[in-house]
Formats: sequence, C-alpha cells, structure tokens
Amino acid sequence: MKVRFEAVREADVVVIGAGVAGLSVARGLAGLRVDLLARGPLGQSGSSPWAQGGIAGAVGAGDSPALHARDTLAVAGEIADAAAVARLTREGPERLSELVALGARFDRDASGALDLAREAAHSRPRVLHARDATGAEVVRALSSSLPGPERTTVFEGARALELVTTGARVAGVIAQHADGALVLHLARAVVLATGGLGHAYARTTNPSEARGDGLALAWRAGARLADLEFVQFHPTALDAGADPMPLLTEALRGAGAVLIDEQCRRVLADAGSNAELLPRDVVARGLWAALGAGHRTFLDTRGAVGEALPGRFPTAFEACRRHGIDPRREPIPVAPAAHYHMGGVDVDLDGRTSLDGLWAAGEVACTGAHGANRLASNSLLEGLVFGERVAESVREALRHLPAPSLDRSEWLTAPDADPAQDPAAVESEIRRLMWENVGLVRSRDGLRAALARFDALAEQRLHGPSRSLVTVARLVATAALARTESRGAHFRSDHPAADPSWRRRILLSPDGPDIRLETEAVAEPEAVEACA
Ligand SMILES: Cc1cc2nc3c(=O)[nH]c(=O)nc-3n(C[C@H](O)[C@H](O)[C@H](O)COP(=O)(O)OP(=O)(O)OC[C@H]3O[C@@H](n4cnc5c(N)ncnc54)[C@H](O)[C@@H]3O)c2cc1C
Repeated sequence: MKVRFEAVREADVVVIGAGVAGLSVARGLAGLRVDLLARGPLGQSGSSPWAQGGIAGAVGAGDSPALHARDTLAVAGEIADAAAVARLTREGPERLSELVALGARFDRDASGALDLAREAAHSRPRVLHARDATGAEVVRALSSSLPGPERTTVFEGARALELVTTGARVAGVIAQHADGALVLHLARAVVLATGGLGHAYARTTNPSEARGDGLALAWRAGARLADLEFVQFHPTALDAGADPMPLLTEALRGAGAVLIDEQCRRVLADAGSNAELLPRDVVARGLWAALGAGHRTFLDTRGAVGEALPGRFPTAFEACRRHGIDPRREPIPVAPAAHYHMGGVDVDLDGRTSLDGLWAAGEVACTGAHGANRLASNSLLEGLVFGERVAESVREALRHLPAPSLDRSEWLTAPDADPAQDPAAVESEIRRLMWENVGLVRSRDGLRAALARFDALAEQRLHGPSRSLVTVARLVATAALARTESRGAHFRSDHPAADPSWRRRILLSPDGPDIRLETEAVAEPEAVEACA
C-alpha cells in the first residue's frame, strides 16, 4: 500500500517523546528548530508523570556520587557499565539543582532543607520527592521551561510510525498527527525518547504509550539494541482489574505493610521478618509462586499505616478508593506487574545510537547504567542526566551535519494490513504470552513456545502498531532465550543460578529479516571512587 504524506515539515531536530527524557533533550536544544512529538498531552504523557517515589541524587550530607555509584552497581547484577553509572551519579546533583532552580517543588523538612528519603538498597537518604507524585512535579517544571513556540513546536497526540533513512543515516520520521494526517518530519537529527515497554505485557504499571514503539522504530531502521532481556517487575500493583494496574509504592512496605494471602498468612514467611524489604525481583517472584499455587495475595497496611494512609500516601489511597477498596479497613489485593525496562537502544555515553543521525535517551535507551536491575529512583535521574548529554551531543553534531537530502515526493510504503486481522485480539494475545512466558519466571520451553507464535504473527500482514508490538516481543524473547542463566531481573527456572561465563551483554542487530545476536564482555568495574 502506498500512502501520500499530507505535509512535510523541516526542523533541525525531531524529538520523539515528552517524558522526563524528551523534555530534558528539548530544553537543552534551545535556539534550534525542534519538533517535539508525543502521543499524549504535554505534561501528562508517558510514565514520567506517574512516577511516585522520587528521584535519586547524592545531594545530602554524608553522601557522595561514589556511594551512589556503589549502590547502583550493587543491585545491577555485575553487568552495569561503570562509566555510565559514574556519569549518572556524578552529574545527577547538578541536574537536580537546575531542576530546583527551574521551580520544581520538592518536599522539605522544617529547616527548609530537602527532605531526602532513604529507599531500599540506597545506603544513604538521597531520594528527593514531592509527596508521592514526584514525576508529575518534575515534568511540570521541565515543561514550563521549554523554549518558546517560535523554535519548539509541540505535536500532542502524534504517533511516530517509521524512521526515515537516507543511505545509512536517519533523516526524519513519519508520524500520524492527532487529526489523522500523515506528516513527514525531516530533520538533521532524530532523538528517540519514547519510554519503556511495560505495556507489551498483559499486567503492567505502565501507561499504554509505553509499549516499546521506539525499540521497533530503531530496529526497523537498522539500529543495535542491548540488554533486552532485563525487565523489572514491581511486586505490588493493585490487582483490581484495571489495565494498567495502579502502582502501590514500595514505601508502603517500607512503612511496615505486610504481604498476606487470603487466609491472612504471610506470603514470604520463610524469608524472615524483613521479607517485604527484599529486592523487588525476589518479592515479586514470591508473590508469583503464591499466585501460581492458587492463592490470592494482598498488601495489608492496616496495622502499620492504618488511618494515616490518606495523608501519607494519597496516590495509593485514591487508587484503592477508585476501585472500591478502603485500605484502612481491608487488605489491598496486589500482584506483580511489568514495570521498567533496563534494556533498550544501545547508546554510548552521549546517547548516540549505532546509526548516524539517531540518538536515544531515557527508558528507551540502554546506557548500561542499570545493568540487569535498576536501583529505585534512578530512572528519572537517568532521563535528566543523559537527556542533557544528548542535547549537547546533538548540538555538537549539527555543527558538521548537513541537512539530509531526500526525495520529498517519496511515498510511505506500508504493508497492506489484512482486513480480517483484529488488532485488539492480536495485541491481547501478544501481551498474554509475554506475561506468561517472557515474564517473571522464564524457561526454555515457554520462551520457545512464545517465540514460535511471535514468529508466526510476524509473518502476517498486521496493522502497524501490532507489527511493532510483535517485533518488540520477538526481540525480548530472543534475548531471554539466549541468556541461559539467572541474573538481576532475568530469572530462568531451568537455569536458576547466575553463571559467571554469562557476565556478558547481549546485543541484537537486524540482519535482513533475521536477528543477529552477539555478546560483549562487561569491563571490570573501574575504581568508581576515582571517576566519581
Ligand atoms: C507507576 C510508575 C511509577 C514510577 N515511579 C518511579 C519513581 O518513583 N522514580 C523513578 O526514578 N522512576 C519511576 N518510574 C519509572 C520512570 O517513570 C520512567 O522510567 C521514566 O519516567 C521514563 O521516562 P522517559 O522520558 O524515558 O519515558 P516516558 O516518560 O514514558 O515518556 C515517553 C514519551 O514518548 C511518547 N511516545 C511513545 N511512543 C511514541 C510514538 N510512537 N510516537 C510519539 N511519541 C511516543 C509518549 O507519549 C511519551 O511522551 C515509575 C514508572 C511508573 C510506570
């Protein structure tokens, strides 16, 4: 099928995504002509405004970037890129000061100092928060600091469908705008900031925009992807039939709430009295096992938080009330859900992908800073730090990069979708298979079965978004099948231990219709203190 563009636009840079990463990039490109595309309204788009707990940074007394780096590496399953961790933790405090200067209102103590929370696996209090709606405050401050409309044009409700390449260089993007028009955005540089892939799973805390579109766009353009098998599952999402599932912050367990089954027995009883504070993946697998054994699982906040819940955790309280649950009187039904993607488009320390003209920032990118598991509250920070780096790198590149030459009369050729296909049914099958076979507990047989079905679906003439979803599903399942060990958030029931020979990253690149898989050894963590 051939489709004619209804408009052609030219900008210096197209930024796809307006969460913390896309906004940070766009802010750093002041003075350039920027087209900023997002599927949702500015300030309400993506996972960023949903972030509750906070944003980490070594800004407190007695803390240092080196300590923050050490904590980040400790949870990362020995596979993080120490240089990326050093950059994240070293540049974080400066980015946070800028955010405060922009007007971000973080909670403060009685003396007026930032009220820093200490979250699980952080050795110091270092998490800035704005009640339990930190992401919304960060996005509000960033959105209000965007350059004016004469240089930055925001397209709300626009969906990027395909990157445009000329030779080996990315030269723009084809997007469907809110009014349905197909528009060709030509640019000297394109930045992907499309967020994560949680919505590729049937059970997720992520908004529907977070379904890995950016991974599929990059893949079809020929980019290399990394660490795709590492998906973090949050243990406590509200299990009341909503899609996505509202997140019940870890801070509730930090405040003493316990996980129980339908008979009020502690779900993690064997793991001791502090079981609720074990790492996310351990708690999530404990719940998964209980659910698999036919139990129902609940978070009981009555004893530990009780009547204080609405004041201390208003977001969690409201979510419960919306679903007819009063957590002051009854336990909250909970279950694990896909939450965060450590993997993504392979980028260097400045966010450059393997393709000329294409950068990536935020959750869609894989800087290597999270390794096999993310330290809580490091992802908003990553969007800020690497978003700023990408802007700097793009500015530098534009000094030399000429405008791409492209035949503007070109047509978009899209595979003709089979009218008999029901996109909703296809997507719900992909999401179910991802959850059941490519989720918290994986095995060779389950992964092979899912892959066989994804391969078959990829052969069909799917509607565009479903085609992207199946691409993402195939790639994550391929990486998960290849990693014959358990490490970080990736757990294989047939290989339940970490294998030192697998201290390698998996890189996937397109090879015609095939997937080329390579592995790369991880450098020994350098003396982080030295670089921090
Ligand atoms: C419920 C919840 C709570 C969280 N709590 C925390 C926390 O406390 N601390 C923390 O550090 N992290 C937290 N996270 C993770 C964090 O929110 C994300 O990792 C981070 O916000 C990702 O930012 P981003 O800019 O990369 O992507 P997003 O904020 O997801 O933004 C992606 C943008 O890309 C756009 N987009 C996607 N596809 C397309 C397309 N095809 N065309 C055009 N635009 C597109 C979207 O519309 C959106 O504008 C939480 C996540 C969730 C879901």
